[in-house]
Amino acid sequence: MSTVYFSSWNGTITDERQKQPAERLSLEDLKIPFQHQGKDLKALIGWAGLVIVDPGVDLIMALREFYRNMQKESCGRCIPCRAGSRVIEDRLTDILEGRGKEEDLLFLQEISKLISDSSLCELGISSPLPLQHALEYFRDDFLKCLEAGKPQEVSENIYRPILTAPCRNGCPAHIDIPGYIEAIKEGDYELALAINREKTPLVGTLGRVCVHPCESNCNRQPVDESLSIRLLKRFAADYGVKNSYDEKHKLPRVKEDADRVAVVGAGPAGLTAAYQLARRRYGVTIYEALPIPGGMLSVGIPSYRLPREILNAEVDLVTSMGVEIIYNTKVGEDITLDQIWEKDFKAIFIASGLHDSATMGCEGEDACYMGYMPGVEFLRKINLGEQVNLGDRVAVIGGGNVAMDCARSAVRLGVREVHLIYRRSRNEMPANKAEIAAAEEEGITFHLLANPTCILEDGGSVSGMECIRMELGEPDESGRRRPVPMDGSEFILNADTVIPAIGQVADFCYLNEDCGMDVTRWGTLVVDEETMAAKKPGIFAGGDAVLGASTVIEAIATANRAAEAIDSYIKKGKAGVGYRHKMEKHIEQLGVYREETVPQMVGDRERLDEEVLPVDERMHCFKEAELGFKCSSEVTGEAQRCVKCLRLGMLVL
Ligand SMILES: Cc1cc2nc3c(=O)[nH]c(=O)nc-3n(C[C@H](O)[C@H](O)[C@H](O)COP(=O)(O)OP(=O)(O)OC[C@H]3O[C@@H](n4cnc5c(N)ncnc54)[C@H](O)[C@@H]3O)c2cc1C
Repeated sequence: MSTVYFSSWNGTITDERQKQPAERLSLEDLKIPFQHQGKDLKALIGWAGLVIVDPGVDLIMALREFYRNMQKESCGRCIPCRAGSRVIEDRLTDILEGRGKEEDLLFLQEISKLISDSSLCELGISSPLPLQHALEYFRDDFLKCLEAGKPQEVSENIYRPILTAPCRNGCPAHIDIPGYIEAIKEGDYELALAINREKTPLVGTLGRVCVHPCESNCNRQPVDESLSIRLLKRFAADYGVKNSYDEKHKLPRVKEDADRVAVVGAGPAGLTAAYQLARRRYGVTIYEALPIPGGMLSVGIPSYRLPREILNAEVDLVTSMGVEIIYNTKVGEDITLDQIWEKDFKAIFIASGLHDSATMGCEGEDACYMGYMPGVEFLRKINLGEQVNLGDRVAVIGGGNVAMDCARSAVRLGVREVHLIYRRSRNEMPANKAEIAAAEEEGITFHLLANPTCILEDGGSVSGMECIRMELGEPDESGRRRPVPMDGSEFILNADTVIPAIGQVADFCYLNEDCGMDVTRWGTLVVDEETMAAKKPGIFAGGDAVLGASTVIEAIATANRAAEAIDSYIKKGKAGVGYRHKMEKHIEQLGVYREETVPQMVGDRERLDEEVLPVDERMHCFKEAELGFKCSSEVTGEAQRCVKCLRLGMLVL
């Protein structure tokens, strides 16, 4: 296990230089990665300080490389940042080449302070820190170099720099959020869209339904509120639609004789993998069980949250590159995995999602009463345009987003009374806060701390449910307090339709004993976390089928990794993912978002939220309920709230 020689990371000085290696703190204790691509870490230089692992590391050379990278990344708007990093690099070169003088050390100290004091973004503010710490704690290394007075031997260090930001690091797909916000500030919406398109074709979709973990990592939070990052993305995507971006920037079609990859499922994971593989010049065929593309984006999420013309245009982008989608073809029933292999595909990516409902374990739920309809089945039916007869009273069970979608869709279908039953309290509801508020506004009655015990029927049709009141006990393994039934508190809730929406499970009808795939005890596919490769060479999987019920952006992230790994598997015979993903992982481990970080010079502009259709209007139709930003002045104003907390880090290996 690697140990720390010296660390000033995140403001804590851990100086182990006088200790024997065996007595030193381990890197793990400081949550610092100790290896990258099979090589041991010698040092880490970055926005939060300096970590030295190998006492023999060429620190000055490594610092010079760091400031060379800072120069490349500096936007140049703050002269001290761009020019100052150049001056630092030159002075360090002088020292390394035997031309340095002792006063250079004072000069370096002063210029690094000047850069951090006068820069407007975090790149300039934070990057001088490692030099300041090196000058303070490793002055002897500089003096030795100055005394030698001759060029130092070129070091064999390997340098791995990365520029990120808390928002970018928090995004599972690591979309270049600071990059597209800058483009929006400049009014270059096409560039903002292009930056998003590096990671997925589904930009307008994400702009509407992404759960935006980036916003939870936004450093403005300690000051006022995070940026509306999702809505900025949506604006860029909508601008692209209004201004025929895809017509103007047509993506090349893949050649007929290209190597081919098969994909199972046309949901966000399957579509993103197909897009990324087509961009890498592979021919892709998607096998899709349903008659339409999009997976849960089209048969789960209701159209009042995601208009289908937005999704369909994004699917068209994928097919315009030559990706073929074969509909109404369920792998495992209409074609087997073996038959797919026989068609000369070089690899298969499985992204079949979770389309069956989890059961509640309550009496009568498997009796097939009329009016008993699991949530995903209900949403699938209405999204495929099938008739559903709900009656006057509908009871939805669950407290997550799927339950909200079911209840809010029932309202829009004209149901007189919609009841939502959830076994914990409002605080524990996993649904998005905005969704919960919107559901209440639309007149849905919440029965909190209640759970069904029995589905009641009359002549084979649902007539209601017997429910029991619950109280909250000790926290369970999820950290939420466990709901405990209260004896004797049973009550009846009348309903014509009961819709359980408590979770989804997979239908792995395509798996057999020798297909080379294992299933976890949670009912998900086993793959390598990084490459998404299954045990059998050439098979990869991603999205909900691997993650369990997750999110669109997580599904996209797995698809991006899988596409990279498939490319590497086909070209080099070994699945592997790129440098960026690994580095973002390391950076996440270092804790790039810190609640206690209060950015400077934030201004006092408040977060701008979008307009929403008035409740009376939206309750009676499936028209899009959230309207996004209206004009470029709104969007520029919101983008200007970004304080650009860029973080430059570098591993020395
Ligand atoms: C009602 C609902 C609302 C949601 N809301 C949000 C939200 O607001 N934000 C968010 O981020 N996430 C949301 N999610 C979660 C999100 O939709 C999923 O995480 C995401 O769609 C998973 O993508 P996927 O590609 O892995 O699977 P899916 O989207 O499920 O797509 C899988 C595809 O594979 C097809 N398929 C399945 N089996 C086979 C087979 N054997 N052969 C061929 N094809 C097959 C399916 O028909 C489907 O088209 C929601 C989910 C639901 C159910």
